[in-house]
Amino acid sequence: MTKQELLKTHFGYDTFREGQETVIDALLEGRDVLAVMPTGAGKSICYQVPALMMKGITLVISPLISLMKDQVRSLNQAGISAAYLNSSLTQGQYFTALRYAKAGRYPIIYVAPERLTTEAFLDFARNVEISMIAVDEAHCVSQWGQDFRPSYLKIAEFIELLPKRPVISAFTATATKEVREDIARLLGLQDPFCTTTGFDRENLYFAVKTPKDKYKEVHDYVMEHPDDSGIIYCLTRKLVEEVSEKLIRDRISATRYHAGLSDEERRNNQDDFIYDRCHVMVATNAFGMGIDKSDVRYVIHYNMPKNMEGYYQEAGRAGRDGDPAECILLYSGKDVVTNQYLIERSQDNQEMDAATWRLVRERDQERLKQMTFYCFTHDCLREYILKYFGEYGKSYCGNCLNCQTEFEEYDVAEEAAAMVRCVENCGQRYGINVILDTLRGASTAKIRQYHMEENPSYGVCAKMPAHKLRQIFNYLVLRGYLHLSDDGYTIVKLTISSKELLEDNAHITMKLPKEQEVRKKEKRSR
Ligand code: ADP
Ligand code: ZN
Repeated sequence: MTKQELLKTHFGYDTFREGQETVIDALLEGRDVLAVMPTGAGKSICYQVPALMMKGITLVISPLISLMKDQVRSLNQAGISAAYLNSSLTQGQYFTALRYAKAGRYPIIYVAPERLTTEAFLDFARNVEISMIAVDEAHCVSQWGQDFRPSYLKIAEFIELLPKRPVISAFTATATKEVREDIARLLGLQDPFCTTTGFDRENLYFAVKTPKDKYKEVHDYVMEHPDDSGIIYCLTRKLVEEVSEKLIRDRISATRYHAGLSDEERRNNQDDFIYDRCHVMVATNAFGMGIDKSDVRYVIHYNMPKNMEGYYQEAGRAGRDGDPAECILLYSGKDVVTNQYLIERSQDNQEMDAATWRLVRERDQERLKQMTFYCFTHDCLREYILKYFGEYGKSYCGNCLNCQTEFEEYDVAEEAAAMVRCVENCGQRYGINVILDTLRGASTAKIRQYHMEENPSYGVCAKMPAHKLRQIFNYLVLRGYLHLSDDGYTIVKLTISSKELLEDNAHITMKLPKEQEVRKKEKRSR
């Protein structure tokens, strides 16, 4: 059968999704593959179809027993003989399965990584033809991945022990370059065909907002969408409690979910949401794994999450049915500080030596920075996401807040120079708020405490509204003219580019929403 016929007869689909066919073709040509695809994009078809076209057995390595069971069940339903080998089988069942496998009964076998190098399994694997190995959740092999599994390191060891090297395919939804390089190296991929697809979800609308009152923003949104199901993600359990209590008090049918609740309450609340007894789920990122509710119409992030991977996975729970859905992120500067705190604290529950920990923290900080830039950018948000994950988007999608806002280039050279001077004047010792309050000439407790009234920068931007000043500040950070220190206190530092802004003919413009018109004219007439 051709791959199209297999797709139709076994899986019931007429066409391949974007990316599936190129992966299948590469594998059939005998080339290793490293495919980056988000959850739900359809990775399984990429190895299941070629597995059925190759002569020998395909081993699929997967970290989760429940995932293996699901996959094997649906393959069997599709009329494909498959089995799994993991610790959920009794010894009797395990050896029976191995015997059948040896007799050539299963073209596809799912196996847990820790089984690979056991004597019984090796004995089997060396005496049959293994034509392909597909590694699911391949990022588990990397220490930099979200969930490192030492047993994944056995995969390369196992392959070395085989009489003939099979084709190897690796699949993951994690995008960072380090993780991809680790996967290729630690699995021993040879000149792999690398591809990134399926990240673009056209039906999702993206927006970043910086409301003064986040709760009001959420409340109003929910009231405007009374019949829709939505998820509100909060960074901490405490906030989940707070927001859900307020919503319930405001007579909105909301429920909550976080790891601090009893199993029973979590199960009940989850069911209430899935079966539409409650419309709004307020939750930490503990909610969502393995939950398949296709008609979630919006996902609001009450706080900025700690990286784009997390954000996109959570936001992506909206609109699984393909109908329009909205993903809104509510940003505030405090979110950066909270995330930094969480990154610092994460060492407590990890067994790592000091050097590894430093590297992991550095990478976490870098990811947090990329996340922050998503909140700062005035360019197309979808383009930003796709670029982050290594895909190429258009610079205008038409379906995000930035694409729908009319921006205008605005000369900010004066303010930029003032900010750099201010940071310099206070010896690079203070945080964002002190810097901005100084420029505005505000009189807060900190300003008085640090005697900023005497600073030459005090009040030089007094005419500029606070939120505009902050936008310009964010823009300078985004462009690398200023830097936020990574020590958990977000101290503003100069960079090697800062000086450029102090030159006489310095030229820097940024996009600001069109309402700036008035101010621009005012400035020209001065
Ligand atoms: P992943 O492993 O990437 O999370 P799955 O392989 O489980 O995703 O696929 C997600 C869903 O998409 C499944 O319901 C699957 O049946 C469906 N799917 C996969 N490929 C296609 C296709 N070519 N056409 C339509 N649906 C598909
Ligand atoms: Zn856009």
